[in-house]
Amino acid sequence: MNDLDRIFGEGGSTKINAKTIEDIGKRLSKAGKRLHEQGLVIGSSGNISARIPGTETFLIKPSGARMEFLKPEELVLVDLQGKKVRGELDVSLETPMHAATYRARRDVQAVVHTHPPTATAFGIAKTEVLPLQIEMFMRFPNGVPVVPFEAPGSKALAETVQKKIASCDALILENHGIITVGSTIEAACDLSEMVEEAAKIQFLVTILASKDTVNLEKLKQKFKTESNIE
Ligand SMILES: [Zn+2]
Repeated sequence: MNDLDRIFGEGGSTKINAKTIEDIGKRLSKAGKRLHEQGLVIGSSGNISARIPGTETFLIKPSGARMEFLKPEELVLVDLQGKKVRGELDVSLETPMHAATYRARRDVQAVVHTHPPTATAFGIAKTEVLPLQIEMFMRFPNGVPVVPFEAPGSKALAETVQKKIASCDALILENHGIITVGSTIEAACDLSEMVEEAAKIQFLVTILASKDTVNLEKLKQKFKTESNIE
């Protein structure tokens, strides 16, 4: 019995469409390049994964691989407990955090973890990113919270993220980076870029304007009265 049969039952390997895995692998590879080009990760930092639809598995970046050079065939297939099902290389260090996120959110199809400089600085300063700009408000009306520091790759980090990701599609990890989720790989990447952009804007606003400008309650009043956003 091969690995896939073991996890999906006899004949399971044929239930997973090889073409689907190949297509998801190509999209993850493209997304890795994009995240690197946007300056959200450097070197081998950050990781990315995507659920294989209709299965209890996901594909994830291998440990030590560089996002900009991710090869679809190098990606590792793991189950929702984070155990390797198929692949030559070791799984990403943050596999427990990805697995915990998929367990917490049945709707999530992709998880992106990056270290964007500005949003990461907000995490170090224990400062949440607020929805100062209208599109950000429409997506994150309560802003993006900072979750307390836990060691990278640890069970404690996975548990902390699992609790908080249930109610928010993006989190800042204190003294570490950010994590975003989406219904597609591309949507999770969009959010990673969006959080970094919002952090840059907030940083500039705190220099340019008074403290009242970065007050969440005042923002809610303003956007609701001016744009009729529910
Ligand atoms: Zn990290």
